[in-house]
Amino acid sequence: MTEKHEEERELTGLYAAVHSAIWLIGLAVLFYTNNWFPGILILVAISGVAQAFLQMLAKREEAKVQAAQSARQAALAVPATCPTCGAAINASTVVWSGVSTAHCPYCKAAIPLKSAA
Ligand SMILES: [Zn+2]
Repeated sequence: MTEKHEEERELTGLYAAVHSAIWLIGLAVLFYTNNWFPGILILVAISGVAQAFLQMLAKREEAKVQAAQSARQAALAVPATCPTCGAAINASTVVWSGVSTAHCPYCKAAIPLKSAA
C-alpha cells in the first residue's frame, strides 16, 4: 500500500519536472528569438498537449501498478516448500514464468499456487 503511494508521488514529481522544463525551454526560445506574441500562444498550446500526454502516461502507470499488485498477491500464494523436491521456496526464489505460474529453482517443477482469494 505504501509502495503504491510512493510511485504516485514519483510520477507527480516527474510530471512537474517535465512541465517546468517545457516552460523554461519555451521561454528561453521566446527570449532568444524575441517572438513573444505568437510564441507565447504556441508555448501554452505545447504545455496543454504535454499535460494531456503526461496524464495519459500517468493512467498507464497506474494500470502497471495494479498489475504489479496482483502479481504480489499471486506471490503470497507460493507454498513454503516445493511439492516435488521439498526444497524451501518463497516468492522471491521461485522462477516466475508468468503472473500466476512459477517454477521451482531447484527441480524446475511447476509449483501449484494456492488461491490468493
Ligand atoms: Zn523443487
